[in-house]
Amino acid sequence: MIDWNKYKITENLKTVLKELDIEQKDEISNMFEYYLTEFRKIPINDSSVLHNPVNETIKETIDISGDKISCSRGCSFCCHLDVTVSELEADSINKKIEENNINIDLERLNRQSTVKNYSELKYQDRRCVFLDESDSCKIYEDRPISCRKLLVTSDPDLCNTAKYTKQPVKGLLNIETEAMVSASMNIGKSGRLSTMILNETKIKTNNYDT
Ligand code: SF4
Repeated sequence: MIDWNKYKITENLKTVLKELDIEQKDEISNMFEYYLTEFRKIPINDSSVLHNPVNETIKETIDISGDKISCSRGCSFCCHLDVTVSELEADSINKKIEENNINIDLERLNRQSTVKNYSELKYQDRRCVFLDESDSCKIYEDRPISCRKLLVTSDPDLCNTAKYTKQPVKGLLNIETEAMVSASMNIGKSGRLSTMILNETKIKTNNYDT
């Protein structure tokens, strides 16, 4: 079995691992190592190769559960959370920003990057810089796995962190997806979305609108 202390893994996977027996932990270890090997083969700037198997696993999770997902277009409460992104995904997003000349609120991005605890930010400052005026994601096709994997089954209003500080949200959790996200976090760097995006030279030098 692998030594999990050597790797970055999601909080969900950490929680699940505490509850499993040795055989089940072994299974997760193998799954994680498989995705780690596969994701290392992905060329830079092409996160679709990472996202395709994730999308399939997410679809299977929904089909098997039979639950109704309450997330819908224009519901953006989860776009006010602290999102983790892999270097591979950040590279693809930065490429999309350049190609589509996407405007970013640079001041807000900096505030998001520098705060230690994301929940200390005002609600408006927690808003992802990629949300447009109609609360749709400007980089939807390239959004990180951390955004894709959120599958809420409870009332969407409960996701409003401006209203509820203790999250009473219910959702679907898939261990394979958590293993995938965790593996992606160990391919190059990974970190908070704002920080990873700010690492892009052109944004640092203010080439984008604020
Ligand atoms: S990248 Fe898109 S989906 Fe993810 S938090 Fe930002 S606006 Fe929401």
